[in-house]
Amino acid sequence: SLSLENKRVLLTAAGQGIGRASALAFARAGAKVVATDINANALKSLAAEANIETYVLDVLDGEAVTRIVSDTGPFDVLFNCAGFVHAGTILEMSDKDLDFAFDLNVRAMVRTIRAVLPAMLERKDGAIINMASVASSVKGVPNRAAYTITKAAVIGLTKSVAADYVGQGIRCNCICPGTVESPSLQDRLRAQGDFEAARAAFIARQPIGRIGTPEEIADLAVYLAGATYTTGQAYAIDGGWTI
Ligand code: NAD
Repeated sequence: SLSLENKRVLLTAAGQGIGRASALAFARAGAKVVATDINANALKSLAAEANIETYVLDVLDGEAVTRIVSDTGPFDVLFNCAGFVHAGTILEMSDKDLDFAFDLNVRAMVRTIRAVLPAMLERKDGAIINMASVASSVKGVPNRAAYTITKAAVIGLTKSVAADYVGQGIRCNCICPGTVESPSLQDRLRAQGDFEAARAAFIARQPIGRIGTPEEIADLAVYLAGATYTTGQAYAIDGGWTI
């Protein structure tokens, strides 16, 4: 069976949603979790948990990323969870939105991976997990141009790291959820005007008949941290959306 006993885990965007559920799931699996988020307030309720230390970290800030890794590393596991969903087609997407989406959804992962990888290579052991989405190269989803473009890049990033370091003890996989309960999902539903109708439409696109829970996604992240025979894969966990 998989054990994460005493593994050190760095987690981004741990303040709410899937990141928060993952911090708790990694801690329950015995790992020592460095849970980070840009929002200090959101981290407060995690700080009291056993096996979890919290730090404010803006993943857009390269120096801050380097600093947190040198202060709290080395890490056995990195889970890149930070990401943002823009609405809109390619014609509605501004260059600014696309730049921001690339910076947060892709380059932030490049920053954290560059920061943790040298120590992982020294120890010839490391698991990197990136948060992608089925809205990516897996599936075209309407009205999600900047998001789909950048989450497809996350899959490319994942495969690149996996291919370069597969012989040196490093595994890199990504997770492709469908629709998952989270504070930002609530915001997106409210932004559509008719909350109940928007929620019903999101449920209807999940053949399993409901929206996923953050805990269901967190369990896959914990699995991938310890699964020693898989790398370079994009794991769909989407209630049957891509059947
Ligand atoms: P969320 O969107 O509700 O929360 C995001 C968290 O990221 C917040 O705590 C926020 O403070 C933090 N954050 C934002 N900018 C940051 C920055 N610059 N540095 C550090 N932290 C920052 O959570 P969620 O919906 O669970 O999404 C988490 C990840 O899962 C994202 O990458 C998202 O794209 C992906 N995802 C979510 C869904 C879904 O339906 N919820 C589906 C597929 C993929």
